[in-house]
Amino acid sequence: MAKKEIKAMHWADQTAQRIIAQREKKDKYVLAAGITPSGTIHLGNFREIITVDLIDKAMKDLGHKTRFIYSWDDYDVFRKVPTNMPKQNMLKEHLRRAISDVPDPFDCSHKSYAEHNEKEVEKELPDLNIAPEFIYQTKMNKKSAYAEEMKTALENTGKIKEILNEHRKEPLEESWLPVAIFCEKCGKDTTKSIEYPGGYELTYECSCGNKDIFDFRKKGIAKLKWRIDWPARWKYEKVDFESGGKDHFAAGGSFQTGERILEEVFKTKIFASIRYEWISMKGTGPLNQHLIPFFAKFSQTSFGELPNSSMSLISGKCVTNFMLDKESSRPDSEMASSYVT
Ligand SMILES: [Zn+2]
Ligand SMILES: [Zn+2]
Repeated sequence: MAKKEIKAMHWADQTAQRIIAQREKKDKYVLAAGITPSGTIHLGNFREIITVDLIDKAMKDLGHKTRFIYSWDDYDVFRKVPTNMPKQNMLKEHLRRAISDVPDPFDCSHKSYAEHNEKEVEKELPDLNIAPEFIYQTKMNKKSAYAEEMKTALENTGKIKEILNEHRKEPLEESWLPVAIFCEKCGKDTTKSIEYPGGYELTYECSCGNKDIFDFRKKGIAKLKWRIDWPARWKYEKVDFESGGKDHFAAGGSFQTGERILEEVFKTKIFASIRYEWISMKGTGPLNQHLIPFFAKFSQTSFGELPNSSMSLISGKCVTNFMLDKESSRPDSEMASSYVT
């Protein structure tokens, strides 16, 4: 009798089946990923793109239509100047502005610091046969796309505070609101006070002296804070799947609080997700030996921002490994860069 061949299924196929089983039948399933382009995009970010892309392809193999959306959180605030960036003093002057409002420190034609970092990644992806639909959060917020979600969040400030306070040592202040505002005059989020009188209105006073009352359906200067922004976008885009790094999945992390806000505030059923591990520098393979000097030069942390020139080399090799190696490519396994030697 011939031996029965047992073929183990690739994790991407398993995940695709799980999404279909877990979600209501849809004409088009929405798979989401995204990051803040606050510095050079690193290998960990590529892992997320590749992870979701493989699941997207597995969904298509099963005969389903999909939208793979990749969100650039370029309306996030510019908090810190990465050490590998040129023109440090110029960049420091623009701290607290939206990243899309910070000038490009490189001598090229990008419109902003955010756009520079975004295009560095976008230009790599066609070679890897990855083509997500990019969503730029500055554009979305400036056209007040999330005004309804913002109103719901503001009306449910008490409930949101309750959810977030469960995981905080110090409770949020009495005056806390789920929104931040970029002052129309100085462009920074250094507002002294924000108030919500009701409806679609917000008032603010900035530390630069500017004050205003505005309708957030007409002026896109307000933005939901991260832990509320994420579930608001899950609702808006009708997301069926999103992955996240393990920091987001920690107890009390933004994924967990986001799930509760999605269900309890936005009244939307939670979707499928997958957690991915960090990528670390381990081993002494030839590629690591080649890369460690780069890290020593460019990175402040154990795994920091890679110089762009290394990205193609590494991402290409990573993809090959992801495609070929079922186990090491699992999102829940720690992927050491020695795999890519
Ligand atoms: Zn540039
Ligand atoms: Zn101001």
